[in-house]
Amino acid sequence: MAGMLYLVPTPIGNLGDISLRCRETLEQADFIAAEDTRVSLKLLNHLGIKKSLVSYFEHNKATKGDLIVQRILAGETCALVSDAGSPAISDPGEELVKQCAEAGITVCAIPGPCAAITALSISGQSTGRFCFEGFLSTAKKSRKEHLDSLAAETRTMIFYEAPHKLLSTLEDMAAVFGADRPISLCRELTKLHEEVVRTTLGEAVDKYTDTPPKGEFVLVVAGATVTEKESATPADAAARVAELMAEGLSRKDAIKQTAKELNLPKNVVYDAALQE
Ligand code: SAM
Repeated sequence: MAGMLYLVPTPIGNLGDISLRCRETLEQADFIAAEDTRVSLKLLNHLGIKKSLVSYFEHNKATKGDLIVQRILAGETCALVSDAGSPAISDPGEELVKQCAEAGITVCAIPGPCAAITALSISGQSTGRFCFEGFLSTAKKSRKEHLDSLAAETRTMIFYEAPHKLLSTLEDMAAVFGADRPISLCRELTKLHEEVVRTTLGEAVDKYTDTPPKGEFVLVVAGATVTEKESATPADAAARVAELMAEGLSRKDAIKQTAKELNLPKNVVYDAALQE
């Protein structure tokens, strides 16, 4: 009889957040697949669990995935853990779940710590409707495309970001969503220096220009208000830019003024004016 794959979430900071069920599953599994075996070994030592570990991470997942599936099909039970939080959420695991599902293996996800949901709960932003956007690409073009695609998004948006890229991400977001858009920066959740900064994109840019960010961050950005979304179309923006230029304003000033008047991000007005 085939074994099973368990997705076992681990603490995102506070080791006390490991659940009884996660602990039992780690104890009872035949083997543990871990993103970084050194990181998981620390947790297992803390829990007093000795278990055989195999590494399963971004760059070996194609070959290791097949091996893990074969072992499960042969009857073993595998517990998958990532470095922190829920496996398969911006972490290795997505592929393994697909592979197991295709092979007819039962997959069981144990609920537990997830940085995105912890941040959303504490953010103070609307939680009724939200979308998870993961990490933005490091490539400038695809980052811009990703953010542009969210310009009219009315749901609360959740992003993961590394501290060294935080400032440029905030600048890019302010350019697309506007400097007044509310954001909650949720830092070092469940750790000693946990902090939630509820501010606007413009103020966040100023803050982290003065003091470079440290630690792990989840960004929870308010969605566009319905009035923002419905106030003006790119065609309205292009027409207003043309009107202002006919009145003698430079293209740059006309775009700036139109963005302000119509409450649209400057780059949206710029693109609309160019297309016209
Ligand atoms: N699968 C994990 C989860 O669901 O929690 C996320 C893994 S992802 C590779 C790592 C990112 O999660 C970090 O760059 C950061 O954005 C966020 N993160 C993880 N732990 C965090 C914490 N304690 N406080 C704030 N953000 C955290």
